[in-house]
Amino acid sequence: MVSSPFIERKMKVGILGGGQLGRMLLQTAANYPVETFVMENDANCPSAHLCHHFVSGNIQDFDAVYNFGKNLDAITIEIEAVNVDALEKLESEGVKVFPNSGAIKTIKNKILQKQFYKANQIPSPEFIVTENLTDLYRQTAFLPAVHKIAQGGYDGRGVQLLRTAADFEKGFDTPSVLEKMVTIKKEIALMVAMNSKGETVIYPAAEMFFDPILNLLDFQVSPAQIAQNALWKAEALALRVVKELRSPGIFAVEMFIDKNDEVWVNETAPRVHNSGHHTIEGNFSSQFDMLWRVILDFPLGNTDAILHSAIVNVLGSENNSGQAIYKGLGDVLKLDNVFVHLYGKKETKPGRKMGHVTILSNERQELIHTALKIKKMLSVESVPAGN
Ligand code: ADP
Repeated sequence: MVSSPFIERKMKVGILGGGQLGRMLLQTAANYPVETFVMENDANCPSAHLCHHFVSGNIQDFDAVYNFGKNLDAITIEIEAVNVDALEKLESEGVKVFPNSGAIKTIKNKILQKQFYKANQIPSPEFIVTENLTDLYRQTAFLPAVHKIAQGGYDGRGVQLLRTAADFEKGFDTPSVLEKMVTIKKEIALMVAMNSKGETVIYPAAEMFFDPILNLLDFQVSPAQIAQNALWKAEALALRVVKELRSPGIFAVEMFIDKNDEVWVNETAPRVHNSGHHTIEGNFSSQFDMLWRVILDFPLGNTDAILHSAIVNVLGSENNSGQAIYKGLGDVLKLDNVFVHLYGKKETKPGRKMGHVTILSNERQELIHTALKIKKMLSVESVPAGN
């Protein structure tokens, strides 16, 4: 007999943030005995109509988060920029928080996150902290480096590559991390889930391919094609990061593999993550399914891949802002083993994440070929003015 305290009644679970991650989490929630609550400012957000109860509110505001959470059994997040003090108080009053407030606090500030890796001897690029631009301009000897805003950056915004002193002007005049630039051979991400007993499971690694202009994930293939010893190191590191964070939940550990097959932790997301979207169709238990199992105290799921997979992000086209239209969608839907996920965002903007497409095949070349084909076939544009 599986003993879950929540089998007898529906657990009330809140999600802070109502974007696409919340939306996909809610799609899976429909399979489980759970009553869902979402808080987000925008009542037209991608999650609003999929939850049982939508609460309009600011997830960074103490009172809003506390009042949202005080009658819930558990809370999870789909973005780190939440009010951690309110979560701490809720935890002290018995509300379960996934990940816990300590893990969110460490991760949401890149300075604290880097200090955490250092304190736990987790290899991550060497760094210094800069408080402002004057500080940054003194760091010529540290170049080439990457400047990362401590709080509030997202999807590559808040990250600047500084190769020479002439690039200093691109830096941030606010507390930031200045990190040594790694010569990256591959970027990979590993998803790990940990339950309240401290048991862990790990998904096969995913390998990322980036758009150099938008500095945003372009497409991704899983499993990653990397040397066996690099994979072992990466898996061991990902598990260590999560164990040291000492929090149940699901985590995406993003890593670099350099030319010597050394593995460096870049950053960790303490939540479901873009790099795990292929698990919806590609793996027995998806990242969303897994998080519900953790929250509801059910057994952890099976992370094995059913087939190899790739994901293409569906991004708003350049020079298009306004009501979204999806060109080429019908052609993409004719393809076999291809799964379209649109996030229900009414308005498109250049580079905005509007959806993703998953491709399944055990042939890596076919995955890459189809991913590139879909990138050409499908575009998100705006309804021309006057229509
Ligand atoms: P975000 O939190 O916005 O996703 P990241 O820290 O992941 O930002 O950085 C975005 C991208 O910048 C990475 O995926 C990588 O390509 C590049 N980058 C970040 N840090 C380094 C580094 N130390 N050396 C080389 N490239 C880096």
